[in-house]
Amino acid sequence: MNIILLGPPGAGKGTQARRLVEERGMVQLSTGDMLRDARTSGTEMGKKVAAIMDAGELVTDEIVIGLIDEKLHQSTGGGFIFDGFPRTLGQADALDALLARNGQSLDHVIAMEVNDDALVSRITARSTCAKCGEVYNDITKPIPSDGKCTVCGGTEFKRRADDNEESLRTRLMEYYKKTSPLIGYYHAKGQLRWVPGLGEIDEVAGSIAKILG
Ligand code: AMP
Repeated sequence: MNIILLGPPGAGKGTQARRLVEERGMVQLSTGDMLRDARTSGTEMGKKVAAIMDAGELVTDEIVIGLIDEKLHQSTGGGFIFDGFPRTLGQADALDALLARNGQSLDHVIAMEVNDDALVSRITARSTCAKCGEVYNDITKPIPSDGKCTVCGGTEFKRRADDNEESLRTRLMEYYKKTSPLIGYYHAKGQLRWVPGLGEIDEVAGSIAKILG
């Protein structure tokens, strides 16, 4: 089964994707993670996209489509979760074509419904374990007082450079201008499913599980 998790920054796409990886053996394809890896390893492409990402703007379709194309050849037991991709209509068309080329298709597009105030407070309070990527929140899920990640025991935590109010404003505008048209696109194709994204992590996971069966 191949699915897209669709929603604005901070909607919880990454958190839910991690659960689906653990519970269903799916493979998470996050273009944001791939781009951050390219920056850390200092590739030419990584250097090219750094300023764009920090400003909260979208990198070109060509770059992210290329990243996804490289990953689609691997075989997965549970299928792919596209997390943060596609973000434009051009990317959505390209994804259809890439999947078709590999004899695959999309099963569901899960749109996570949230409101902007919740996004701002979630994102500005967000940190992740540097070792395993577990997501923490200063208010709702603080880093344990012993300073150790509850999942892997890691002791280093990081905040994303673009998780600040100014970048977030741009990221939200980019979402509404360029990504939200995908809601109409997938609705028209009969693939769109809504889940309320504001509940507890387990509740949201339950709503997604009902759709996936
Ligand atoms: P994310 O981790 O998904 O929030 O992505 C972080 C940043 O990476 C975004 O603000 C964009 O600058 C860039 N990015 C990630 N995925 C895409 C995509 N599909 N299209 C364009 N830019 C992307």
